[in-house]
Amino acid sequence: MTAEIIHGKQIAQDIRAELQQEVAALVAKGIRPGLGVILVGSDPASTSYVTAKEKACEEIGIYSDDNRLPAETTQEELLAKVAEMNADPKINGILVQLPLPKHIDEAAVLMAIDPSKDVDGFHPVNVGKMVVGEKAFLPCTPHGVIQMLLRSGVETSGAHAVVVGRSNIVGKPVANMLVQKQKGGDATVTVCHTRTRDLAGHVRQADIVIAAAGRPNTITADMVKPGAVVIDVGVNRIEDASKKSGFRLVGDVDFDAVAEVASKITPVPGGVGPMTITMLLWNTVESAKQANGLA
Ligand code: NAP
Repeated sequence: MTAEIIHGKQIAQDIRAELQQEVAALVAKGIRPGLGVILVGSDPASTSYVTAKEKACEEIGIYSDDNRLPAETTQEELLAKVAEMNADPKINGILVQLPLPKHIDEAAVLMAIDPSKDVDGFHPVNVGKMVVGEKAFLPCTPHGVIQMLLRSGVETSGAHAVVVGRSNIVGKPVANMLVQKQKGGDATVTVCHTRTRDLAGHVRQADIVIAAAGRPNTITADMVKPGAVVIDVGVNRIEDASKKSGFRLVGDVDFDAVAEVASKITPVPGGVGPMTITMLLWNTVESAKQANGLA
């Protein structure tokens, strides 16, 4: 292997240590950042995400207000809970764990969150601010990708970045951040999706590849320009009889082969994954500072 590994786990730990200090300084001023967490139902994956988020809050000193609501919660009840948190000065960030049960209109719930507490960065007000380059809560996974590039010394300015995927939570926002006139931006950006003709031809031109397709082996070694930086956002379960669980997690990139060609690469797991919760904590601390006139 020739590529240097970008260890998301380590970068996430470094950022959490910085945030812990910031939280301690805020607490010394009588301000404890607070995250309101709402989980509707008991989906095992969602439950484990929410538990991990609450544990991460606790570790760095953020207060977390845990609300586990039954699956039959009505939309009105959920909206009332969001309204209560919007009005609660102890809560600086509101996280509604997705997906919501089918009888609840997800968009209506996300729209009801006060944009100044939208630490997931999904509210159209924050999306709009991000697009026009104003200060905004940035969505956590794409912001995590940008931080990984910045903190591992990858120059985005003038680079050709090819993003594979155009979802609202990863592909579109990461493409947007990369094109902004700022540090971690100033790239020339191509966005690919399932209608793209000649995906390999586009990826081959990239100095930076961001893979967010949700499909194993989307990026193979023959598609990568020697020396390119490859960030793998994908998380896919594939069967593996040698594992007790019967599966293992892989990204969208054929890691072993691409690592022979790329200059830097992120692993799965241990790459982008640990950054997502970290950036949620970042936004919550930022929100607490803003609410107290400190940012
Ligand atoms: P998504 O909503 O399913 O979007 C996937 C995108 O990839 C779509 O735009 C799709 O194109 C495109 N795509 C799929 N197959 C393709 C192919 N063969 N060639 C070109 N484009 C292709 O997924 P997502 O929510 O963005 O997530 C993407 C991956 O990141 C998933 O594996 C997800 O689990 C992972 N993820 C990880 C984290 C983390 O914390 N690490 C966070 C979020 C997501 P169309 O639009 O044309 O369908």
